[in-house]
Amino acid sequence: MIRIKKFTFNPFQENSYLLSNDKNECIVVDPGCFNSDEENELSNYIDSENLTPTHLINTHFHIDHVLGNHFVSDKYNLPVTAYLSEIDMVSMAERSADLYSIPYKSSPKPTKFLNEGDTIDFDGSELKILFIPGHAPDHIVLLCDDEDFMIGGDVLFKGSIGRTDLPGGNHHDLIENIEKKIFTLKDSIKIYSGHGPETTVGIEKRTNPFFT
Ligand SMILES: [Zn+2]
Repeated sequence: MIRIKKFTFNPFQENSYLLSNDKNECIVVDPGCFNSDEENELSNYIDSENLTPTHLINTHFHIDHVLGNHFVSDKYNLPVTAYLSEIDMVSMAERSADLYSIPYKSSPKPTKFLNEGDTIDFDGSELKILFIPGHAPDHIVLLCDDEDFMIGGDVLFKGSIGRTDLPGGNHHDLIENIEKKIFTLKDSIKIYSGHGPETTVGIEKRTNPFFT
């Protein structure tokens, strides 16, 4: 059984997630902690729950999702795992930090990669990778079909979708990918989004204004 803990970090109000299993291993997804208070909030929780971080995974490399990569990678000695994009998303995050004048310790470059159809065995629970470009060219989603949830990043929000005006974004691709790869999943799948509250596949299929 996977437990999910959500943190909302940084000026972009980005949701970072910790997935933990019965062995107390945990996967850190999109650590957005950007100052020492937020870093402490994350690491204190990991300590208090006796968790051992085993993976650091980014759904995509937008700045708000990687602000804590350096901290987590360094503290827990974890490689950065992400989609291998032809576009240099690591440099793009650095340029975004400059643009927004956000203090940013550059993320280590990803050295482990995930692609469509890959799976992660997490103490018997399988996390499946879906490749969903459109919001970002390197965007992946972590789907746990058995336990009815996905960590969806910025693909789909409650009542909205990810913006597509950033470099590498493509509105048509995003809409098509959501229809083909997410709306074909079970309605009951809960979506933990990169911003805002949780929703489900069924709710978004029925009510999301981009599709109705
Ligand atoms: Zn994003």
